[in-house]
Amino acid sequence: MIRRNFIGNLIAGSALGPLAGSAREVHEQSSAAPFLERPVTGQPHKGKVLLALQAHSDDVPLEAAGTVAKLIEEGYTGYLVRATNDDMGDAPGLGTPGTIGENVLGNELDTAKVAQVLGCEKHFDLNYSNHRMADVSLNEVICRLIFLIRLLKVDTVFCWDPWAHDEENPDHYRVAKAVEAACWMAGRAHDYPEQFAAGLAPKEVQDKYYFARRPEITRVVDISQQIDKKVEANRANQAKGPGGHLGSRLQAELASRHQRLPLLGDDDATADRNYIKEFVMAHNRELGRQYGVEYAEVFHYVAPGASGADRDLRVDAYVKEHAVSLK
Ligand SMILES: [Zn+2]
Repeated sequence: MIRRNFIGNLIAGSALGPLAGSAREVHEQSSAAPFLERPVTGQPHKGKVLLALQAHSDDVPLEAAGTVAKLIEEGYTGYLVRATNDDMGDAPGLGTPGTIGENVLGNELDTAKVAQVLGCEKHFDLNYSNHRMADVSLNEVICRLIFLIRLLKVDTVFCWDPWAHDEENPDHYRVAKAVEAACWMAGRAHDYPEQFAAGLAPKEVQDKYYFARRPEITRVVDISQQIDKKVEANRANQAKGPGGHLGSRLQAELASRHQRLPLLGDDDATADRNYIKEFVMAHNRELGRQYGVEYAEVFHYVAPGASGADRDLRVDAYVKEHAVSLK
């Protein structure tokens, strides 16, 4: 029996049934309608840490920037990790054409800007070759991520879904597999004990927002209030695109034919912003329409206690509520 079924059976009709409050997030895993994460006021997540992991400079900006920005606004301390150096650039017509070296530098600078736009405390570039992660040692990547999880005391991760379909890019599924393993192994006492001698402590991550090309949607996040930050994150992605300077480039192309698009405004920055909001964010707008908000991002969300947990957090909650003093 897999752990998720085990928990589901417990909730269905046992002594742990009254723990419905803490079981809500586990329930949402199997519920037909995905849970809608709405805006919150204040900073309820103060003290928590998120790690947004991407293979390439455009992954988080396109797939999760709104939610990452939202959680940071709500109190999280955020860190951005990029696994590759993006040296392969991108498809013709996207981003900024360049040599391999120019691609590396451009994406390095863009990623620093993206981290800043999203409000991240710091960012880390792991510098693996773009499209070449298939034969990078999985254990090496896992070990590096375990180190970061323990060092930064990570509570929540964002990454490509290690179990998603329709994924062509080896960097995506390779880094995703490493993240999934690292989240679990980082909490164990016998994995890489030399890190403990250096002052780190075990730290498991059970809270995961996975994104995918064809996502298994268990959580929808209302990013309407963060859409302008998401636009800015994609505008910062100039080397890779697909946001970057495409708007101003189109405007210049039209001008050479004595035409203009009113949508793109009168200056380059406005053209880039409006292009991104209209075309690159169209998918988030469509998701929003589907789920009754203006703009949305969607995730295969793995809640604390849903998988990989060595200790069921609801037992702690039950003890806290029901334990009595010895006579
Ligand atoms: Zn990518």
